[in-house]
Amino acid sequence: GVTARTPLIAGNWKMNLDHLQAVAFVQKLHWTLKDAKHEDGTVEVAVFPPFTDLRSVQTLIDADKIPFALGAQDLSAHDSGAYTGEISGAFLAKLDAKYVIIGHSERREYHAEGDDVVAAKVKAALKHGLVPVICVGETAEDLEKFGASAVPAGQLKAALEGVPASAEIVVAYEPVWAIGSGQAATPAQAQEVCAALRSVLSTVLDADAAARTRVLYGGSVKASNIASFMREPDVDGALVGGASLLADEFSSIIRFQK
Ligand code: PGA
Repeated sequence: GVTARTPLIAGNWKMNLDHLQAVAFVQKLHWTLKDAKHEDGTVEVAVFPPFTDLRSVQTLIDADKIPFALGAQDLSAHDSGAYTGEISGAFLAKLDAKYVIIGHSERREYHAEGDDVVAAKVKAALKHGLVPVICVGETAEDLEKFGASAVPAGQLKAALEGVPASAEIVVAYEPVWAIGSGQAATPAQAQEVCAALRSVLSTVLDADAAARTRVLYGGSVKASNIASFMREPDVDGALVGGASLLADEFSSIIRFQK
């Protein structure tokens, strides 16, 4: 049968907004979303602030009953101990974080995170009750050499090593060449890769996991292109960077009409 997947619109703030700016921004975003469909659960909204903002944003969304899920941009593969500078999934869970981004291309590129680190972090997230948002995507060079699907499919297979079929996860397809470039993939390209990733979910996990897991597109998503992505059958939402920092723009993305 057909499994209805609730669309997820996720805002990855990256290293932007300190905790005071974060509080002001979330209040403004909430205000611009008055009467929007996320209030009734038709669309799920999640924000991914820097670590230092999480407590302030958690306190605000809790106190004002703001219907945004909270997520972190990374976590440690370890639980606790002598890992200077790292943040445990246990700490994120204590802050009521629901999601954690893992394997973003900026972590893979600037922090040399390979598939093994990504797989270890996915396990750590699940262990602490967090939903990993597993990011995969090909570079421009990969695209030329291997086509669009091969590299992201391989990254997803590696990330799912040892993950039980019953686990709640989210997959984000983010072609590296589309991130922050203003050059989004076409909806057809996004659909092709998201469908390939769903078939990886089916093979590595099972058919039910493939039917229920949300696969997002990310890379230069904005208000003017969100609907075209959401019309594709295997695209279940978006991971939004730059446009998630603009309250009106992000609000329009959340209000997309297919
Ligand atoms: P962008 O970033 O929307 O600014 O392209 C997306 C991401 O990196 O998650």
